Amino acid sequence: MRALVYSGPGEFAVREVGTPVARGTEVLLRVRACGVCKTDVHIHHGHFFAAFPLIPGHEFAGEVAAVGKAVTRVKVGDRVAADNQAACGRCDACRSGTPLFCTRMYAQGVNAPGGFAEYTLVDETRLYPLADGVSFEEGALIEPAACAVHGIDVITPRAGDDALQFGAGGTGLILAQLLRHAGVATLAVADLSARKLALAERLAGAETVAVRRDVPEAHDLELKNRYSGGFDIVIDATGAPAVIQSLPQYAHPGAKLVIYGVAPEEARIAISPYDIFRRELTILGSFSQLGTFPRAVKLVNSGVLKLKELVTHTFPLEGWADALARISGGSDEVKMVMTP
Ligand SMILES: [Zn+2]
Ligand SMILES: [Zn+2]
Repeated sequence: MRALVYSGPGEFAVREVGTPVARGTEVLLRVRACGVCKTDVHIHHGHFFAAFPLIPGHEFAGEVAAVGKAVTRVKVGDRVAADNQAACGRCDACRSGTPLFCTRMYAQGVNAPGGFAEYTLVDETRLYPLADGVSFEEGALIEPAACAVHGIDVITPRAGDDALQFGAGGTGLILAQLLRHAGVATLAVADLSARKLALAERLAGAETVAVRRDVPEAHDLELKNRYSGGFDIVIDATGAPAVIQSLPQYAHPGAKLVIYGVAPEEARIAISPYDIFRRELTILGSFSQLGTFPRAVKLVNSGVLKLKELVTHTFPLEGWADALARISGGSDEVKMVMTP
């Protein structure tokens, strides 16, 4: 089979490799769509517990091509989305009931072969059938949707809360939709891209604020003028340290500040501990997903989450360099999907 193989950080090629064989409860999946995500950029640079050599791609859906002898849940030809992660069940974090922090997490596309290949192996317990009207591209977005469901679990928005979210990329637009469904009153979304803001408005009923790189104070002024009372929930979905550092400015007393985007590991920000103390601000982190995949599948199969318009570009495996350049450059693409 053909696969995008990284021999080490920054070194990749599309190569012919052996097609894996499904044994036991394993399923051989013919990958039809695999989402490209900012995490893939971190993996490209060798961060985010990446283990090389590696076939990346952690957001994938496809058709069941073959099944191991013990498989009972799916059959050849089924259209499914795959949860890429499995906790070990044996480490201290797993034994303490916090498998999200498993120290030996099996994560396809991060430290195990992923979906940037014609085929990949997935245990049947991590496969979920797609409804008839759900495309493979939408199916590939169920993994980021599961991250957004986890985000909502972390944020626990109250009906009537006001929320501000920086960043309207693929996962951000899913989170914004879930915030709207969770009963948020005012949902303001700020982003550089007019295209992404239009989607935030249409798909999540958001009020939008344009961010301009050349005039960084413009959105700050606009936010403070339009929303002088501040927000109950202020979310970073960009991963940009400067944005994260600015979150307290838009919070009203008692607010939650949410770090949802992936910042560089070595990044540091300056915040005022007195401000956190005096205004009783809470800082929340929302990392990845585990155990939220079944709910994400329901939200997508039922049509509650609107994902179709998020996929703005598809690439063959040979287009990886192009896809990587576009996602690294913070361009106008909302969600890019590889179609191996
Ligand atoms: Zn991702
Ligand atoms: Zn574990």
